[in-house]
Amino acid sequence: MRTDVLGVGFDPVTMDEAVERGMAMLDTDAPDYVVTPNPEIVMTCREDPEAKKAVEAASLVLPDGIGVIYGAKILGRPLPEKVPGADFALAMFARMARTGRSVYLLGAKPGVAEAAGKNLAERFPGLVIAGTADGYFQDDGPVIDAVNKAAPDMLLVCLGAPKQEKWMYRNRDKLKVRLMAGLGGSLDVYAGVVERAPESWQRLNLEWLYRLKQDPRRIGRMMKLPHFMVCVMGQRIRGK
Ligand code: UDP
Repeated sequence: MRTDVLGVGFDPVTMDEAVERGMAMLDTDAPDYVVTPNPEIVMTCREDPEAKKAVEAASLVLPDGIGVIYGAKILGRPLPEKVPGADFALAMFARMARTGRSVYLLGAKPGVAEAAGKNLAERFPGLVIAGTADGYFQDDGPVIDAVNKAAPDMLLVCLGAPKQEKWMYRNRDKLKVRLMAGLGGSLDVYAGVVERAPESWQRLNLEWLYRLKQDPRRIGRMMKLPHFMVCVMGQRIRGK
């Protein structure tokens, strides 16, 4: 059963359990996809029914970031731990590399997915980069054709939220891949275009602050976080 946080159901799994489930999905033909909502996406789902439908239809809904974990705790139904999408994919790649599985990288600005692919291939010998494409395309058709031609085991869809969730929902039956994951700015991180917060900041759950420091324009988006917390408190008061 999923854990409800302001209308979005999260799978109550640890990182290890999420990877086990992801690996099992690589062995089925169902068009599975993984989403990793943060508080911003939870708030988007409250206003955008199409985004909510796309998130709900995912096979695995993972809490990306500490905001969702705090929210769930305040609501009295704690989730085991945060499962950041970028880390989930890295853990999957480590496992996939052992058996020569393949991944296609879709998204980010031209050249970024390619650079990410190079870095990932070096970091995980055995992992096959089946192809790459940037995320600034007009028609889905040629992208779907290119992915199907490459026939990867896994497809990363990094178009930002909620665009990537809607894209996976809309195209899931047309794609010949076993598993997709919508991972926002992860390709920028894998490519080294955007620096991930140092571990000490991650341990202190301050990754969001580090990202804000790097890109102060994110402040508008991050204002959804206090709103998320206000809604969580409101639901707690009403629900008790
Ligand atoms: N992006 C894309 N196509 C678009 C819009 C965005 O490929 O039409 C990419 C953008 O270049 C970036 C990612 O989607 O690599 C979104 O990153 P962001 O940090 O905003 O996502 P988050 O991780 O916060 O969800």
